[in-house]
Amino acid sequence: MNDSKRILVVEDEQAIKLGLEENLKFAGYEVLTASDGPDALQQGMQAKPDLILLDIMLPGMSGYDVCRKLRDSGAQMPIIMLTARQDEFDKLHGFEMGADDYVTKPFSVKELLARVHAVLQRGRAREDAAGEFVFGECKLDMASRILTRGGREIILTRTEFELLAYFCRNAGKALSREVVMNDVWGTEYYGTQRSLDSFVSNLRAKIEQDAHNPRHILTVHGVGYKFAL
Ligand code: CA
Repeated sequence: MNDSKRILVVEDEQAIKLGLEENLKFAGYEVLTASDGPDALQQGMQAKPDLILLDIMLPGMSGYDVCRKLRDSGAQMPIIMLTARQDEFDKLHGFEMGADDYVTKPFSVKELLARVHAVLQRGRAREDAAGEFVFGECKLDMASRILTRGGREIILTRTEFELLAYFCRNAGKALSREVVMNDVWGTEYYGTQRSLDSFVSNLRAKIEQDAHNPRHILTVHGVGYKFAL
């Protein structure tokens, strides 16, 4: 059941916050709430929620900054951004700051709950993974979910880890963008191929010696990607 999962809802619009809190509690989750950026950051670090629903326009500090500061501090929990605007810039910027997913307001509660459930399940399904992959000067430890490069830990967002783990397991195969998105996120994923490309460019910056001339995450023109160990 969901009763051990704790969700931090960060939203300064009272009506939306109360609605989310009520619906999440009804679905069996434990709910914490914050109404401004600094409080969100503090609770995110100290209460260690299993998932954060994070509004972008907040008093005190934007959701982008909260997200980035949490990731900088090593926090790995999934973060779903609640965005009021539909333009691509928001999504890409959110992913760059370390968000895993986003929902555009106004959203249906049913859709949001499905997304929350899917994100939490993804984490659970992969907890059994073991072993490690070594490529270049990088080592990806599947059990601890830690990436090191030249012996130093590189912080990955949850989605970056899942994508990199998927590439490692499927090394040597040409993978279409559609197949990658379907296998990593499942059919419930609403992102675009551009958001996949954005994750790939973030990963390249973290694992490649020269991100513009990659040796591991290779572009297969007209298809998608191929990972070389
Ligand atoms: Ca707001």
